[in-house]
Amino acid sequence: MQITETFSPEETFQLGKELAAKARPGQLYTLVGDLGTGKTVLTQGIAKGLGIEEPVSSPTFTIVQVYGEGRMPFYHFDVYRIGDVEEMDEIGYEDYFYGQGLTVVEWADLIAELLPGRYQEIKIEKDMEKGFDYRKITIQEVAK
Ligand code: ADP
Ligand code: MG
Repeated sequence: MQITETFSPEETFQLGKELAAKARPGQLYTLVGDLGTGKTVLTQGIAKGLGIEEPVSSPTFTIVQVYGEGRMPFYHFDVYRIGDVEEMDEIGYEDYFYGQGLTVVEWADLIAELLPGRYQEIKIEKDMEKGFDYRKITIQEVAK
């Protein structure tokens, strides 16, 4: 388990870049944390670290966004608005989760039953006593 404390969006972005540097094809990161904690900021750092220059945001009407220009394919899921896990089947999520790219899933707790047997869970938490921009980021290997 790795705990990183950040005090600005830039530091969280930087952590994302470091995660990308270590990433292997087929790896999956889940991102768990309340709205506005920095899941997308971290994702943007990961994309940058993979060499993706295209802007990365959380798409409103698509569950997954695919980026091909980095050193490996990058699959960015945001399942916040998912109504039913069957929507994941419809988009063929297994091709991404078990593919040769790096997958990041924002709000992964909403599709917990679909997660593979092994992944890295990233939890982002605020602590207002430590300041508005403070984030505690816990990275843990999960093996079910
Ligand atoms: P989420 O995807 O978790 O809903 P976003 O990444 O879209 O959240 O937004 C996080 C917001 O919090 C941004 O406005 C960002 O500037 C702000 N922020 C403040 N401090 C931090 C920090 N330490 N790390 C990440 N984001 C931060
Ligand atoms: Mg987001």
